[in-house]
Amino acid sequence: MNLLRNWYFIQTAAVNPLAQSPQFSDEVMGQLIRFVASHEVGHTLGLPHNMGSSSAYPVDSLRSPTFTCAMGTAPSIMDYARYNYIAQPEDKGVCLSPRIGPYDLWAIEYGYRLIPGNVSPESEKSILRQWIKARADDPVYRFGRQTGDPHDPSAQTEDLGDDAVKASTYGIANLKRIKANLMDWGNRPGEDYSDLEELYEQVFVQMGRYTRHVSTQIGGVYDHPKNNDQDGAVFTPVPRHIQEGAVSFLHREVFQTPSWMIDTMILRRIEATGIQNRILKLQRNALTTLFRQPRLDRLYATQITGTENAYELAALFRSLTTGIFSELPDRRQPDIFRRNLQRELIDQFGELVQRMDDHTDASALARQQLEVIMTLAKKASRRGGGVERAHAADLVARCKRYLKPNS
Ligand SMILES: [Zn+2]
Repeated sequence: MNLLRNWYFIQTAAVNPLAQSPQFSDEVMGQLIRFVASHEVGHTLGLPHNMGSSSAYPVDSLRSPTFTCAMGTAPSIMDYARYNYIAQPEDKGVCLSPRIGPYDLWAIEYGYRLIPGNVSPESEKSILRQWIKARADDPVYRFGRQTGDPHDPSAQTEDLGDDAVKASTYGIANLKRIKANLMDWGNRPGEDYSDLEELYEQVFVQMGRYTRHVSTQIGGVYDHPKNNDQDGAVFTPVPRHIQEGAVSFLHREVFQTPSWMIDTMILRRIEATGIQNRILKLQRNALTTLFRQPRLDRLYATQITGTENAYELAALFRSLTTGIFSELPDRRQPDIFRRNLQRELIDQFGELVQRMDDHTDASALARQQLEVIMTLAKKASRRGGGVERAHAADLVARCKRYLKPNS
């Protein structure tokens, strides 16, 4: 019940009066349970998760009442598609809930339809394969397998639509509206602040989802299983411009301090301290996702198998340094959150320098970035005073620790 409450609130409250309180009506809760029950009954009928389903729908279609009320938020209830976080306040009458969709009806037909005259699974095989081929080019009937750390950004959990940057940008616009109303919508009259605390935490959880959906584009490889009588590749690297767009999104929405998330009025009611850790956790998770070894391996390998379209590891590292340390050459003072993030990037590059199982250029390139940062920080440590100067000197010392551990 709580999980459903949190999803519905944090994904739809900006456009949905039914979700603008910590406790919903029984009628609304019933509808929410109906969504989960439909999904679970799908499992009992043998359907696995289809994490690729939601990528079939264009982001803008999820803003249309006629489209969403006929098609739901994804073609399959077996995706982890959630409530419609894309619809904006000006999109009147948009339907918000996932539902049983065309993929599910087709999957049941594939699994259960009687094919008269065929007495063995073997003799049905060619007919079933024809059915699959007839639908192979229609994304509505696509299956995207579930993986823990997906290489395929079009088969992710908790996402909607065919463009993660666009979908997440709409999602963040709604999340800002929800946060701005949280004191009103997140409290029950006369009660303590536990609802407010939980729902404020959900702002960070949902922001983490948007961040992950975008981060996964970087070093992503689409995965469209095929038999050898079907045309085209199975594995295709994500085009470079999409990966570059994802990096820009991370700088804009996550690494530049997302100050809209910091709400003193709420914080003074729920905790003695902790906001710096909430922001750092969001940013750290983004960096950790980018630096996972399988992602580094893919970024490295697309230079071999991938083409002129490849996005290179060196370009990613350069962009992270330039963006996250942008204050230093500009002689601006990084705020508290940026100082935390700058230390974090050094630590993550430092971890890469020391990573022994890395067989890509990542370690060498991380070392190079630490040198660049150290040069920038050395200059900054000779000017200004107070915290700015101390921070710059500390950055130098941290870089040194990873570059010359025994000196
Ligand atoms: Zn499930």
